[in-house]
Amino acid sequence: MQSFVFPGNIDENISRIGSADIPYMRTDEFSAINLESEKMLLELMHCRKGKTIIYTGSGTGAMSAVVENYVSTKKKALVINGGSFGARWVEICRYCSVPVAEFKVEFAHAPDYDELESFVADEKPEVLLCQHHETSSGVLFDLDKISAICRRHGVSLVVDVISSFLAEELDMDRLGIDICVTSSQKGLNIPPGLSIVLLSSALEGYSFAHAGYYWDFQTNLDNLRRGQTPFSPATTLYLQLNARLKQLIAEGGEMKNIERVRHNAEVFRAECRKYSWAMPAESPSYAVTTVQTSDDGSRRIFRGLIERYDTFIMPCGKPGMYRISHMGLQSDEELRLLAARMHEIETEKSL
Ligand SMILES: *Cc1c(COP(=O)(O)O)cnc(C)c1O
Repeated sequence: MQSFVFPGNIDENISRIGSADIPYMRTDEFSAINLESEKMLLELMHCRKGKTIIYTGSGTGAMSAVVENYVSTKKKALVINGGSFGARWVEICRYCSVPVAEFKVEFAHAPDYDELESFVADEKPEVLLCQHHETSSGVLFDLDKISAICRRHGVSLVVDVISSFLAEELDMDRLGIDICVTSSQKGLNIPPGLSIVLLSSALEGYSFAHAGYYWDFQTNLDNLRRGQTPFSPATTLYLQLNARLKQLIAEGGEMKNIERVRHNAEVFRAECRKYSWAMPAESPSYAVTTVQTSDDGSRRIFRGLIERYDTFIMPCGKPGMYRISHMGLQSDEELRLLAARMHEIETEKSL
């Protein structure tokens, strides 16, 4: 199988752990593994003296946890909504009855940061929630600019880096980000099922709310102090996370992986230019390539790749538009072959 979705093709050493025996988790050994994973995650995200909470759950679990435990303690939130994941922040805030102002960004466009600043000045939120990379369109948001706006207006910053972690540079401390969320199946390139919160040291001693039983920060933090989880962890995934983090650090850290992802994106984008496919994302992230083909609404390319080549890409917002992830294992040759196959299906005459 060729996978250009999330998590993409996974390293054999990591996937092998998925079929191995599952050890008991209430042991010193398992605790040590989790404390080590925490240390490595903090290092890779530049979150010195911060804390992590690693939940069993998909990425949205961590988003929900952040709103329940932290955002709900604030009088008002502001969300940058540039696609389905921005919309999700808004939905979770509304679900938790947190007053929320929405800064809408047109699909596939980058935010206008001057307009954003005026909006922040008018709305006076206590916390700003955004994505680093809006995965639904492929647009990368400028965290330097967003962070500067938050600093100037005394607003706490929370960023969903689920699809940018390990694909784009991120320094939580330098940017003054209070909370980041990520998950296992994107840049980390292990199976889905872990949802991760990173709390900066600025939040040490913060009185979090208790508004969601499973995701409660305090209960989870109390358990994590000894490397444990309050409920049954997806043990295998925690082991895969640990092995993958070690591998990333041994290979040279987050920058090495970012370079790999960037290279994949550049190889594929050269093919897109060759086949004259537009790439509509303004300020695109290297994590995915959003590409406009001449395929119609019936998604022939998408179906054709699955049926003929056991290959997966992601549909996107509009007919003929697709997203190709660059996070998984993929060679230059595989990327060129993918583009050639997409082109082959696109230009075939209907039977
Ligand atoms: C994948 C993703 C999520 C989480 O989605 P889940 O399906 O819950 O894992 C959240 N935000 C962004 C930006 C994502 O790319």
